[in-house]
Amino acid sequence: MRQLKFDNYFKKIEEEPLPIWNKREDIPEYIIKYFDKYPVRVIFDDIKYYCPFCLKELNDCYCDHCKQQFNKEIYLYVNDINNIKGYQYSDFVFTFDVINDEVILYVIKRVTTYNNPNVSVPFYYHFYKVYRAFHITKKGIKDLLNNNIEMTFAEMHQELQETEEIYILAYDLIDDDESYYLYVDNLDFLKNTIYKYTKLWKLKDYLLDTKVNILNIIYAPLYNQDFEFLIKNKLYNMAFSTFYLEDFNNKLKKLYKDNKEFIIKNNLDYYEFKALELIKCQDLDVIKFVSNNIGLVKDIKELANIDFVKLKNIINEEQLYEYYDYLDMASKLGFNLKDKNILYPKNFIQEHNKAYKQMQLVNDPNIDKNIKKIAKRLEANKYEDKKYVIYPAPSIDSLIEESSMQNNCVRMYASSYSQDKTHIYFMREKSNINKSFVTIEVKNNKIVQARIKNNDLPSQTIENILKSWEKTLKDKKKNDKNVVS
Ligand SMILES: [Zn+2]
Repeated sequence: MRQLKFDNYFKKIEEEPLPIWNKREDIPEYIIKYFDKYPVRVIFDDIKYYCPFCLKELNDCYCDHCKQQFNKEIYLYVNDINNIKGYQYSDFVFTFDVINDEVILYVIKRVTTYNNPNVSVPFYYHFYKVYRAFHITKKGIKDLLNNNIEMTFAEMHQELQETEEIYILAYDLIDDDESYYLYVDNLDFLKNTIYKYTKLWKLKDYLLDTKVNILNIIYAPLYNQDFEFLIKNKLYNMAFSTFYLEDFNNKLKKLYKDNKEFIIKNNLDYYEFKALELIKCQDLDVIKFVSNNIGLVKDIKELANIDFVKLKNIINEEQLYEYYDYLDMASKLGFNLKDKNILYPKNFIQEHNKAYKQMQLVNDPNIDKNIKKIAKRLEANKYEDKKYVIYPAPSIDSLIEESSMQNNCVRMYASSYSQDKTHIYFMREKSNINKSFVTIEVKNNKIVQARIKNNDLPSQTIENILKSWEKTLKDKKKNDKNVVS
């Protein structure tokens, strides 16, 4: 309980406001020191990296002038290194403080400013500020510095369900969506507060080297019911990347049970766990590959039952979208998406490009138009007896469908058929008229090929029917001028 006191007019009794830090002098030195965890930014333009202190070009991230090694991961982009006057960047550190058992989460901001040593005296300086002071209660948070921000956990939950993005919400709270370090040496303070069940102080070692999103340390521990379970099982990566596992209790808990050893051993995070759910395989490389591309992998799985262990052998991560494109075309072209040679081609790029060319063919409206016109003319060659019927392939779609059912590549003939160079007929059993039976290629009124499924030859009885039919073929191409190509 906080002290009660009269308001300024001695009219009513109110709670004394929490004595929070709000000036630079209030920020403890240990927090200022904690900012040293952030490496100094290297600057870069389109190709080169520069020393932030002297703006000289770096040699493999080492400044010969300042004798310092820098970290390439952290950098600032500039357009024109010679003309910048200076530059600035911000870091944040989160830190808890407890006043009378009430929890305050501070967001301390450090702004680093460099001046261009070529323009003015070389120097840089830091500027520190108490940026936010959130009072955290069981219900939610209230910013004591900017009273406009007040949000319940239920509202946060609602928003996370809607956007499925923690970054948008984090941005609402602190105008920044990055992850930052949390000061860990005072976490014991939380033991007697609303955080008592979260056991955050036991995670000191983990949190010391892990940047967290602000929602990781307020919403997740206090509102996500799975947080405790995950921490208890040492699944720290998952606990700090999980925000909307509302179904964790049912389906995912079984997945967790079945793969417990693997999950714990590799400390899977939420996205890796989702990847495991999708592909159900205990291959960490493949899990990582999939976890970076969950949406795309879902789309791929909708097209075909892909074994991602096999897939990873033929493509790299950057090719995943192209692979999706390939599968999409393959399915539109009627390829057999159960055939391993189709799904895992030895030369993926080559097959992708082949499919692309065929796709262009199929999408060319002139080709279908011509096929329809030619088929109409070839109707004269239609054959029918009690059991069988033979008729010209009526459209590009029918060719794709036929080749898909036959497992052959009759679709390759679409182009020559549409140019009247070769003609495609289907022989069907009347009792099963929609099912492909024999595919026949005719050139100059002669049968060039007749194939049943998987490119096998038809039976002798069928051969005999075809032979007598062949004798009746009489297609007089009027002349080539009538054919649009
Ligand atoms: Zn330097």
